[in-house]
Amino acid sequence: MSIALETLLKKSLQEEPLSREEVLCLLNLKGEDEKEKLFETARTLRHRYFEQSIFLYGFVYFSTWCRNDCAFCYYRTSNRLSLRYRKTEEQVLEASTTLANSGVHLIDLTTGEDPEYFYKKRGVPIFLNVIKEVKRKTGLSVMISCGVWPDEVLDDLAEYGADWFACYQETHNPILFQALRPNQNYNRRLMVKRSAVEAGMLIEEGILSGVGESLEDIADSIRVMKKMNPHQSRVMNFVPQKGTPMSNFPPPSPDREQIILAVLRLCLPHRLIPASLDVNGIQGLKAKLQAGANVVTSLIPASSGLKGVAQSELGISEGQRTVEAILPILEGLGLKKASLQTYFNWMDKQKQGFFH
Ligand code: SF4
Repeated sequence: MSIALETLLKKSLQEEPLSREEVLCLLNLKGEDEKEKLFETARTLRHRYFEQSIFLYGFVYFSTWCRNDCAFCYYRTSNRLSLRYRKTEEQVLEASTTLANSGVHLIDLTTGEDPEYFYKKRGVPIFLNVIKEVKRKTGLSVMISCGVWPDEVLDDLAEYGADWFACYQETHNPILFQALRPNQNYNRRLMVKRSAVEAGMLIEEGILSGVGESLEDIADSIRVMKKMNPHQSRVMNFVPQKGTPMSNFPPPSPDREQIILAVLRLCLPHRLIPASLDVNGIQGLKAKLQAGANVVTSLIPASSGLKGVAQSELGISEGQRTVEAILPILEGLGLKKASLQTYFNWMDKQKQGFFH
């Protein structure tokens, strides 16, 4: 290990801020020994704030309709190959209850920017009622991942029980953003997260890796996320999707996601960082946990007929995206599912700290 890396890792353990150049140096690590030192430091920092506890998020993708045409997304409006569905309130409640009974800590309610909810007058009340009922029936925290709502709707989302608002920029390079998310407003997407905090919700920000960004872009994203200080920050490797302009884009190597995840842990040691089952499924989970993730996301009931985002089918019908399937992996790494009370306590502390 070089002296410079030792210095960087020591600095990280002392929770001193890393410069852009130092972040770049970590993102550039190539040697297996060096990478393992990075992951070990990330695990130490995770343990400092969360000990062995891992939080589990259930995923309910309840409408795959979307008005947008993101270049990387299987569910972009112009993709004729994409399967479309819009689940009824009863179906959403049933899937959420199944997830709650299986032991998740949170229900992530996700849709594209479905015109049924975005444009129609009766759409928003239907959406709000789903949140209220999921919360009432499961007693769990609810995350909303449904795109860029107007500010006045954000207040309603919080009032009806949404605890979290997730809205991924995917890149903080505005030029790349326009290529990935054509006809969408970079600043509006960034600022909606501030409005969500003002409305009383916790926020999640995220980036995609392997979509044409440079390591400098990733370093800039980490700098923006550190400044924004979201309660949860995610990185996901891009998965090429059939029927999209990026279907032949070469996928990034799995360790790119793993390294970025670890660097996120070094820069945001006290925050939640998820390992999504949506990329590489259960096979990829161990590596992400070893890199410092402390949430497992995209748990989906086997027989629900629900889809994933980046991998619409992977491991769902086989029951590999269930709490039962992942618990042995946690245990094998000396980790454990957190108690529900631990999760609620963590959230309460975050909400109390909003304006500090
Ligand atoms: S990424 Fe989200 S907003 Fe973009 S097309 Fe897909 S579902 Fe729609």
